[in-house]
Amino acid sequence: MIEKQDIPGGRLHLLKKDGFTFDVGPSFFSMSYEFKELFDSIGEPIPFELNELNPLYTVNMAGSDRVFQIYKDLDRLAEEFKGIESDFESKVRGYLKGAKEIFHDTEYKIIKRNFDNIVSYALSMATVPMKHLPKMFRTFWAELERHFESEEVKIIFSLVAFFLGATPFNTPSVYNLLNYTELEHDGYWNVKGGMYKIVEGIMGLLEKKGVKMIYNTEITSVQHSGGKMVSVTDSQGQVYRADLFVVNADAAWFRGKFLNRAKYTEAKLDKMEWTLAPFTIYLGVKGTIPGIHHHNYFLGDNFRAYADTIFRSTVAPEKPYYYVNVASKSNPDCAPAGCENLFILCPVPDLRVKPDWSDANKLVEEIIEDLGKRVNFDIKNNILTQVVYTPNEWQKVFNLYKGSGLGLAHGLNQIGALRPANKDEKLNNVYYVGASTHPGTGLPIVVIGSRLVTERIVNEH
Ligand SMILES: Cc1cc2nc3c(=O)[nH]c(=O)nc-3n(C[C@H](O)[C@H](O)[C@H](O)COP(=O)(O)OP(=O)(O)OC[C@H]3O[C@@H](n4cnc5c(N)ncnc54)[C@H](O)[C@@H]3O)c2cc1C
Repeated sequence: MIEKQDIPGGRLHLLKKDGFTFDVGPSFFSMSYEFKELFDSIGEPIPFELNELNPLYTVNMAGSDRVFQIYKDLDRLAEEFKGIESDFESKVRGYLKGAKEIFHDTEYKIIKRNFDNIVSYALSMATVPMKHLPKMFRTFWAELERHFESEEVKIIFSLVAFFLGATPFNTPSVYNLLNYTELEHDGYWNVKGGMYKIVEGIMGLLEKKGVKMIYNTEITSVQHSGGKMVSVTDSQGQVYRADLFVVNADAAWFRGKFLNRAKYTEAKLDKMEWTLAPFTIYLGVKGTIPGIHHHNYFLGDNFRAYADTIFRSTVAPEKPYYYVNVASKSNPDCAPAGCENLFILCPVPDLRVKPDWSDANKLVEEIIEDLGKRVNFDIKNNILTQVVYTPNEWQKVFNLYKGSGLGLAHGLNQIGALRPANKDEKLNNVYYVGASTHPGTGLPIVVIGSRLVTERIVNEH
């Protein structure tokens, strides 16, 4: 494996500074059983300890002291929405029933299978029960409106849409299935000792299997002939030959940059839909902050207007919406005694729309001030260490196209056979894994993607 960074893991990266340890990207995941199945498939026990989140997360609304704890236990969740949404429990059960049906009706037909062409994809789509068809034409938000009346419930249940690279107002309603995966099916999980334990666990197994790792070098060109890739060359001019190549760089960007494919020129890539770029702040803070939990969303009071402009705005968001993860709440080793480590993620427009981040400090200050007020703690004057990644760093460090954090978005025009395929169109020994190929982004989904590629390689070679 040839890796640009000095450590493995990609976006599941680790940052250590001044006695604090931060998970750089992912902080939790759904569908934990995908990891269990991955290790089962090689006859190994899972090499890290899963930790179920309860509550799943906490939501702080602007302009009120009300904090919603989102529980998987629906009786308990109903308590949270008492006085806000009448008859919540029966409404949420009705809502989740529909979401459950579409999840199980598409899981093996669309997500967990390979497609060789558009026809096989269309045929598979045709076997999904017709009753789900209206969900293709309705938005995520419209589906929520069919079930709930209060803005609070609709906003909270629609937050997940942003992960797909769109807003709830233009995401198809089929993706309400994500609320089923988190609220009923499997919940949310993280890993004891921090998310990087996943990488350490996998690396232990790879070493046992004799996989050779080469770090700190970047593939800068590829050589092919007669319908096959022959070798790749790195930034130091070293040439690596192989029989088969699996590409983990972005599947769309790689085809344009290294294979000069007309469908993936910069102009074409710019026209595609990409997920939002992350603006991330890693803070080591002196003191323990009582008003904050492990996973927290801090929202403003203009949800619709914010959602409408966030992808298109050429300036940094004012009154930003953001997510805060405080790993030290459940994993004290991440911070020195009496301190907290804060990971703050604010989704922002990518570099196509806002290429200049020289104003990053303003956004950092705004978020730290807002957060301090909302959790009633002087964060600003207790910062012991601070690191900021703007979309520029995300692009430069991880080769993420224009800083898009989760790769290509998941509109109906960019999924299944319409997503860059996991097998190269022209070179029959080149395969792709990761966020921008099939089935898509997020830790459990890229694990599914790696299994689909393995299946292909075993069948075809
Ligand atoms: C801020 C943030 C928060 C996230 N939070 C979550 C979360 O909570 N839960 C969740 O499930 N998902 C989350 N995600 C999404 C998740 O991180 C991704 O879907 C997943 O990690 C993608 O894996 P990948 O293999 O596609 O890419 P990567 O993990 O980025 O791996 C690609 C690797 O290829 C290397 N590389 C690229 N080009 C070259 C080259 N030319 N030569 C050599 N090496 C190269 C890169 O350095 C990198 O190590 C988050 C993402 C971000 C950015």
